[in-house]
Amino acid sequence: MNILVINAGSSSLKYQLFDMRTESILAKGICDRIGIDGNLKHTPVSNGKPVFNSSIPLPTHAEAIKAVIEKLTCADFGVINSLTEIKAVGHRVVHGGRKFSESVLIDGDVLDVIKSSTWFAPLHIPANLMGIDACREAIPGVPQVAVFDTAFHRTIPDYAHIYPIPYKYYQQYDILRYGFHGTSHRYVSAKAIEYLGGKAAGTKIVTCHLGNGSSLAAIKDGKSIETTMGITPLEGLPMGTRSGSVDPALVYILANLGGDKPTDYALDILNKESGVLGISGISNDFRDLETAAGIDTNNGEMLEGAPVNERAKLALDVFCYHAVKFIGSYIAVMGGLDALVFTAGIGENSPYTRAGICRLLNGIGIRIDMSKNGCRCGGKFMNITGEGSIAKVFVIPTDEELVIARDTIAIIGDF
Ligand code: AMP
Repeated sequence: MNILVINAGSSSLKYQLFDMRTESILAKGICDRIGIDGNLKHTPVSNGKPVFNSSIPLPTHAEAIKAVIEKLTCADFGVINSLTEIKAVGHRVVHGGRKFSESVLIDGDVLDVIKSSTWFAPLHIPANLMGIDACREAIPGVPQVAVFDTAFHRTIPDYAHIYPIPYKYYQQYDILRYGFHGTSHRYVSAKAIEYLGGKAAGTKIVTCHLGNGSSLAAIKDGKSIETTMGITPLEGLPMGTRSGSVDPALVYILANLGGDKPTDYALDILNKESGVLGISGISNDFRDLETAAGIDTNNGEMLEGAPVNERAKLALDVFCYHAVKFIGSYIAVMGGLDALVFTAGIGENSPYTRAGICRLLNGIGIRIDMSKNGCRCGGKFMNITGEGSIAKVFVIPTDEELVIARDTIAIIGDF
């Protein structure tokens, strides 16, 4: 049974086609520059056919989906013979608002609720809806499932997700800390529970999804009880270009410098010009920052004699410091820790960042094995726990698309 997974952004659309009998990827790809000019990169995985990577006109998401379907089924680059081999489509939807605590089959009512969440994520939700509409048009009658980034965090208790502002905003406008990256935190925490022996009850895990967008979550008994992101993905850790948590009055102070578009100016600075990019003035990419700071990105060691850019080093230090502040508070609210989990681009690939965070946690007894940490996980699980550590430290590659495909198949059943 084949499941198509779609992750639609405002000008891009990523896809993977899974054969769910083996949970293997048949093909994957990305439509870029939708609405601008258009490019499609399509990679057949299962049958050795060549990669297609070329500019093609993609004025809207509808044309992008049509192009994807043409590539999946054509003789030269295809992996299936006809559309009937696609049993269902799973969509990543960034915000499920207060209503959705799990994935759902998409119908008219569900679409209305998703639309009503648009004001929480005005850039992402319209793009997600365009992806859904385009699929409904291109493959009518094929069931579609929505998998929400926020759903896994709906178990966070009221006292942790409420903002200490007047209660009416919570009641009337659903303003609360939703959290994001839920599909990733759910996947890696479930894997960690397997490695801890398979029983969720009693487990205390901190998952660190460290990528261009970064968030941490406290997972107790297999359920999310706290996470760093809030009503938007701006809260929490400093990130590639996002500030993370700052004094909210900073918005007002920056807005006063913003001329005739004060709020846009302040939010643009906090979303697009801050984080490690803002501090370093060099890049939002950790590889660039590590290289500038004289670090060997392969093993996280300092390169002898290499020049050290102090602001790049400071940006990396700030990132690790804030991660540790959150991890420490999560250990406190859970009353202990069984496993610390690193995932996503930085978590899986940056020995320097993992070591930087764990060094600051040494005082509370968390230790890693530096030689194991120096290996790249190459898409595989690594146990980098050091001698005498009070908790396990794991590197677990995330797989959000597989979760979406699994949820989709679980929901459509024998549809
Ligand atoms: P993601 O958003 O999960 O795709 O992660 C993207 C980020 O991972 C990039 O911006 C890089 O900063 C980081 N990254 C990827 N590979 C490495 C590496 N080998 N060393 C350090 N950082 C890396």
